[in-house]
Amino acid sequence: MPLIDTHSSPGADPGLDPALPPVVELTPPDIAPYRRGNTGVDYVTTLDSGRDGPHLLINALVHGNELSGAIAIDGLFRMGLRPSRGRLTLAFANTAAYATFDPAHPYLSRCLDEDFNRVWSPALLDGRRDSVELRRARELRPVYESADAILDLHSMSNDTAPLILCGRTARGRDLAVRMGHPAWIVADEGHASGRRLIDYGGFAAPGGVRTALLVECGQHWRKETAAVALESCLRFLLAFDAIDPALAAPHLRRRADRQRFVEVTEAVTAGEAEFRFAAPFVGMEVLERAGTPIGWDGDRPVLTPYDGCVLIMPARRPRAGQTAVRLGRLEP
Ligand SMILES: [Zn+2]
Repeated sequence: MPLIDTHSSPGADPGLDPALPPVVELTPPDIAPYRRGNTGVDYVTTLDSGRDGPHLLINALVHGNELSGAIAIDGLFRMGLRPSRGRLTLAFANTAAYATFDPAHPYLSRCLDEDFNRVWSPALLDGRRDSVELRRARELRPVYESADAILDLHSMSNDTAPLILCGRTARGRDLAVRMGHPAWIVADEGHASGRRLIDYGGFAAPGGVRTALLVECGQHWRKETAAVALESCLRFLLAFDAIDPALAAPHLRRRADRQRFVEVTEAVTAGEAEFRFAAPFVGMEVLERAGTPIGWDGDRPVLTPYDGCVLIMPARRPRAGQTAVRLGRLEP
């Protein structure tokens, strides 16, 4: 069985032990009823309150095998949720990849031709190259460009605590704090291998006003991950005062712990020799002391460069030249 999930670190292969097939607790929802939508773009629906307010957008299925976002949006539709001000757009992104989801081989439907979340630069979008994902990105581009704020729902290969990627802007961090959940907020600027949606255009511009967050809701196919995704949607809408709090209340299952803020400082790239971690890290471990072993790149020990070093989404099987793990500094 091919091992191709490369979700968290571009090109890194988290691997999949054939002896331990992943347990898929979630059922992919039927999204066919949402295909027509009302925007002229398939699988995109805009709910208009008729009142002034921001255009908020919740986005699922950037990666076709990340079911929790689709389940959350399906849940919002089923709740009959309407914004109380402004507009709310609900979008299913890489629906072609999602259509190939097979619970027996759940890693395989992440994308068809390329990663939908690495194509968000004008040069690529305006260029001549073609792929399933680029075609869909070009369809969705005006939808995303019309949003004031985007919540982009994802999940992870490892069983890692949920986290918000808020980019480098103060307004990204501020929105993550106003959501109050998940508890980890991680500031980074994306990947050398291509721009993410949350880094596109005005969303990452230092002086801008538009904001985009990516929430990694948990392990791809755990039940809990779908609950985190739905709660994240509701907290995003509450942060803009865009829904009735009474509607959201039954789904807010936990008061967030104190949120912790991590600034990503660097990536550890695996060399030619085998890269081995010092422990079976899953991500968000805090290594308290500088000089603590993270792993070995061949014979060379890789040590934490500072106190309070957080491991961000380690690859399960790092390959040469690829990101083994990113490191972040925990804000005291
Ligand atoms: Zn993803």
